Amino acid sequence: MNKEADLIFINGRIATINNNQNFVSSVAIKDGIFIAVGNNDDSLSYKGEKTKIIDLNGRTVIPGLNDSHLHIIRGGLYYNLELRWDGIPTLAEALNRINEQSQHTPNPHWIRVVGGWSELQFKEKRMPTIEEIVRNTGSVPALVMHLYHCVMINKKAIEAAGYDKDTPNPPGAEFEHDRSDNLTGLITAKPAAVILYQTLAKAPKLLYDEQINSTRQFMYELNRFGVTSAIDAGGGFQNYPDDYKVISDLAKQDLLTVRIAYNLFTQRPQKELEDFTNWIKMVKPGEGNDFYRMNGAGEMLVFSAADYENILEPRPDLAKQMESELKEVVKVLVKNRWPFRMHATYNESITRFLNVFEEVNNEIPFNGLRWFFDHAETISEDNIKRVKALNGGIAIQDRLAFQGEYFIQRYGKEVSENSPPIKKIIEMGVPLGAGTDATRVATYNPWISLYWLVSGKSVGGTLLRSKNNCLDRMEALRLYTLGSAWFSGEQNKKGSIEIGKFVDLAVLSDDYFSVEEEQIKEIESVLTIVNGRVVYAKEEFQNLAPLSLDVIPSWSPISIFGGYYSSRNNQNQNQNQNSNNSSSLQRQKQVTANYNMDHNNNKNHLVKDKEKNNENQNSSIIDSKEINVNDKSIKIQYSNHICPCCDDFFSF
Ligand SMILES: [Zn+2]
Ligand SMILES: [Zn+2]
Repeated sequence: MNKEADLIFINGRIATINNNQNFVSSVAIKDGIFIAVGNNDDSLSYKGEKTKIIDLNGRTVIPGLNDSHLHIIRGGLYYNLELRWDGIPTLAEALNRINEQSQHTPNPHWIRVVGGWSELQFKEKRMPTIEEIVRNTGSVPALVMHLYHCVMINKKAIEAAGYDKDTPNPPGAEFEHDRSDNLTGLITAKPAAVILYQTLAKAPKLLYDEQINSTRQFMYELNRFGVTSAIDAGGGFQNYPDDYKVISDLAKQDLLTVRIAYNLFTQRPQKELEDFTNWIKMVKPGEGNDFYRMNGAGEMLVFSAADYENILEPRPDLAKQMESELKEVVKVLVKNRWPFRMHATYNESITRFLNVFEEVNNEIPFNGLRWFFDHAETISEDNIKRVKALNGGIAIQDRLAFQGEYFIQRYGKEVSENSPPIKKIIEMGVPLGAGTDATRVATYNPWISLYWLVSGKSVGGTLLRSKNNCLDRMEALRLYTLGSAWFSGEQNKKGSIEIGKFVDLAVLSDDYFSVEEEQIKEIESVLTIVNGRVVYAKEEFQNLAPLSLDVIPSWSPISIFGGYYSSRNNQNQNQNQNSNNSSSLQRQKQVTANYNMDHNNNKNHLVKDKEKNNENQNSSIIDSKEINVNDKSIKIQYSNHICPCCDDFFSF
């Protein structure tokens, strides 16, 4: 007799990412594992007295998405503190939001907008001016960070950070001064992004309980888009083990709703070898469980190898001592069988990194050790061959979707068409994973990255890659699921819907395979399941949704606006609003579902986007002109205080 399933899904359009069985209509689940994958009858033969049956109503289902390069642990610690401009269609609305937030953020906290947006996503096609930020934030310290390019801070934040007109320019960065020599609040990376982080680090952090809440809200936000796994790439000011306490405490309590494999990122320039030698004594790759496991070293191995993708500035040439520093670290990693990942933007850097890896391999064979490059936007065919020869992989992200227009301007259309050379990497059989590199350049919304993989377009709508370097939708989905699973060595456990694999899946709002290409960006999940448990549910599945969890602190921008901008929620919100519901802090709460699966420990929550009507913001537009990018006309508006480092772009 068959085992009795906990749950059976019927009547779906389920993309399995299994070549032998592209689409099925039904799956049966027991103890978080698929026990049947096929048609309704195949699954229903596992029906018992306690089995719950869910009708998918013909909805499209995919394996849970896996972002193979996401700064999820650091992002989680700060999520409740940051106001997101991700996906906001107009600068006017973006400014409205900092204006409204300035009425809620208490002293000494700052308003922080950190990454996930590009001025080209805005209808106005321009950056905010310092004056606009000052005017909309008043006496609350405020910081707006643009890519790895610049931060704009208001006077209160200049004071709080302890900067003044005599503060010297840091190496590779510049403070802007006005005619009276006072700081304007614009700080530009030229191209060293360190000053951007240092400025950000001057703002207060959340308390422990708030960080716990913030991390859970961030995971929930990722679940909203069908993300069920991520490989964490560490980060500056993300020190092991101190800054991992929140995530490991959540893991111990079984409260993770995204599976996380994490890499350790060196924190101290010139002391990298010491960092890794210490960590090798403390923790082992693979240590942990299927929700929280250690994945080796990276993405920073040595600081001298950091080739920042600040496309607004020329490509940096790495220092001469890079090779010897990198070699020492890689030798120790290979000797101790530590898998590693390495940030690498440009082919010129990759050539030098591969020289080092090949030398180490001659002394201490890699011998199948899992390693990979992150980003690799301009990697050459020759270097892909060298990666393959050392059994490496490449994890790509949609960073150019946020700055591709600048990339075209600097390197030309032909280089852009092949950056990164996605099709070539697949053709050559090198493991390839997809992701975002969120949260400081790209947004964490995976559908923007899937859209970029499929369409080759930026968030500003510019065609960046040639059509023969774009993927069909199934290929793109494969990268984002099974492809990414290789990067934590878990491709046999997850990434496809097959008997014996983990039940991580998302039921989609729209049919990814048939919607108009532009609509891919609007897709969300209506039901996300991790390890057989419901972690997110809405629409007809709303009664399966887990418990809601209020955002703390209550003044958090997440509490007021939610995360990624959603025109969908905006519409719902407007329909649901009644005359008493005018306070921006009011949120809809989710009633606990009477759902008898094993989710006692999984008290989750629901955060509804709170949207305001778009009011046109006053701005200092003085002129506008049409520019041509890839045969498409873009209207650029000038203001009299545009960030000077963007001037280049406007002479496109
Ligand atoms: Zn990186
Ligand atoms: Zn990164």
